[in-house]
Amino acid sequence: MTETDSPTHSLNINIADSKWKDWKWHLRHLIDTVDKFEKVTGARLSSEDRKKLEETLSLFPLAITPYYASLIDTDHLFNDPVFKQSFPSIHELDLESFEMDDPLHEDADSPAPCITHRYPDRVLLLVCNQCAMYCRHCTRKRKVGDTEQFVDMEEIDKGIAYIREHKEIRDVLLSGGDPLMLDDEKIEAIIKKVRAIPHVEIIRLGSRMPVVLPYRITNELVERLKPYHPIWFNTQFNHPRELTRASKKALAKLADAGFPLGNQSVLLAGVNDCPTIMKSLLHELVKQRVRPYYIYQCDLSQGLSHFRTPVGKGIEIMECLIGHTSGLCVPTFVIDAPGGGGKIPIMPHYIISWSDHKVILRNYEGVITTYQGPDHYQPPDCNSHCSECINIAVEDRTEEKLIGIEKLLSDQSETITIVPCDNERFNRRDDES
Ligand SMILES: *Cc1c(COP(=O)(O)O)cnc(C)c1O
Repeated sequence: MTETDSPTHSLNINIADSKWKDWKWHLRHLIDTVDKFEKVTGARLSSEDRKKLEETLSLFPLAITPYYASLIDTDHLFNDPVFKQSFPSIHELDLESFEMDDPLHEDADSPAPCITHRYPDRVLLLVCNQCAMYCRHCTRKRKVGDTEQFVDMEEIDKGIAYIREHKEIRDVLLSGGDPLMLDDEKIEAIIKKVRAIPHVEIIRLGSRMPVVLPYRITNELVERLKPYHPIWFNTQFNHPRELTRASKKALAKLADAGFPLGNQSVLLAGVNDCPTIMKSLLHELVKQRVRPYYIYQCDLSQGLSHFRTPVGKGIEIMECLIGHTSGLCVPTFVIDAPGGGGKIPIMPHYIISWSDHKVILRNYEGVITTYQGPDHYQPPDCNSHCSECINIAVEDRTEEKLIGIEKLLSDQSETITIVPCDNERFNRRDDES
């Protein structure tokens, strides 16, 4: 079968191919009730299941693009990774005591409208709170279906003004919702304004459209955005089955237009919590010129308990990747710290022990080896004036610029401890003085 004469979908929908490939058609025909789901996919749920689902749906609404629904294998419905990511489960109501409404404290770290500013040099700019589909594992589940606070251009302008005022921001991530829910003109208008800020070096677009609605990646869109490079594009494939012909075409369009592509998977129980599935996904991504960037441990948001795996599952997957396959296929496994601490990388241990002149390491095969350090090491003579030292306009590395552990490691800093702000022992000292 050639690319053109194969069926584009398997749903009970009778429409012309040209309509099926029109992204706006999918948004007008979202599957947003169980009835529609059954009608379109031909799947049947028991009346008991349907009844139980009603409560879930009243809390967390349903929306699947016909495209994504067409990937569901209805013969193995409840085992299907596409179904699990898109169709509600009664287990979304199983709340755990440690779950939170906003575990990443994104609302607290918002100094201006549409902005989450967590790291020193980069911000999220939330340009749209709508998505083509409601992923069941959404970390921002609290906001799903909340159409009231539709982001408008005036609010976005306030966010852009914040970026303009903060010269330390060199990287702006357009996120949401899905930024590609906006029309081409609107996205271009936003990107144009951000690009006009001299200190913004790179722009990133975070969108799941290549996965859930690849027809959104049109020639017009990529042509419109190309003049504003460098724009990096990050998406979220979680299972090899999502890499369809249409998805690959969308990725190729972006890659051909010069967008470096990255992927951020979420580790999901029953979807991709398996080294074989994950490795095959990562290999397939690299073939499509997508560099695996992160694997996320599932967040502590409410309604995700049935998706959560032990952290050890992620470490096991990393163990099965590192050394076994190209470094290009190996993403960083991260936990986004509850409370807004940001992403923390998690790795298997490779350092077994060390002495003053030797490090004992093990490789992926279990071979234990030694690395002998140099007998005479002369560290660079550092006066913190980096711009003089390397003769490039860079920020000096003065003590007040150093953060956290980097500060403890620096010979330029007098700091010898970092103390939590509510440490009782230190509070007692303050009281005495
Ligand atoms: C993930 C994230 C970023 C980007 O982090 P990188 O590690 O640079 O990809 C920025 N801000 C927030 C709030 C984030 O959650």
